[in-house]
Amino acid sequence: MPETKDREGYAFNLHLVCGGFAYFSTLSNWVSYGEHGREVRRPRRVYVDTFQSLLIALGHCTANIVSEEDYTSWLMYRGWGIVTKALVRERMPQWLQGRKCISDGVGVFTDVALASPGALSHSISSTKKRIVSNRDNAQCLECGRGLSKDGIKLTMHHVRPFGRGGETTTRNLVCLCEECNQKVADEHVIEYFRKANLPYTLDANLVRGEFTKDSFAMALMITKNMMHTRAEVA
Ligand SMILES: [Zn+2]
Repeated sequence: MPETKDREGYAFNLHLVCGGFAYFSTLSNWVSYGEHGREVRRPRRVYVDTFQSLLIALGHCTANIVSEEDYTSWLMYRGWGIVTKALVRERMPQWLQGRKCISDGVGVFTDVALASPGALSHSISSTKKRIVSNRDNAQCLECGRGLSKDGIKLTMHHVRPFGRGGETTTRNLVCLCEECNQKVADEHVIEYFRKANLPYTLDANLVRGEFTKDSFAMALMITKNMMHTRAEVA
């Protein structure tokens, strides 16, 4: 019996092709750190059969992209495509380049080329402050004190610190009082997402079938280190 070996390839979830760009999500690896502690990340290889079974179990349709014809029709139909290493290198090498990314704090990365100026800025708009303050009941998530009942000034805290690549979105911001904010400093406390009633691990869109304990666990596995980015299509 020949040894059965799971081939390696790349898995891309192709969302949109427009204006000369293909917008996609893919699993990624850390490459290096850039300014503001933002990670440079690059698509990472997966085991084709294993990954495909995972996607099918989650209710996704997947396409095996092994030829030029497959590639051309995939650009029209989109969705998850599992592409052979050879085809990626030969036909779409620009998809593999490293990208500077910001992070939402739970392991999902967004190419800065896709991020809004507000998400990339250290300063926080008054709209975001109001939304986060309302959501967190205008009290410190650590000690529970607030302006109206205790006369304590509240501040906005980046859960994944801005200087470590954290994005400035309501997703990554919580209310802390000045004292607690200073104590936490640049520690990355995932627990704050739970306290703020934010989904703190999972991209629910990855579950297309039934939402079970198993599908939840599988979706968790591929949410982590997911990178949203784009590449030019020739
Ligand atoms: Zn506090």
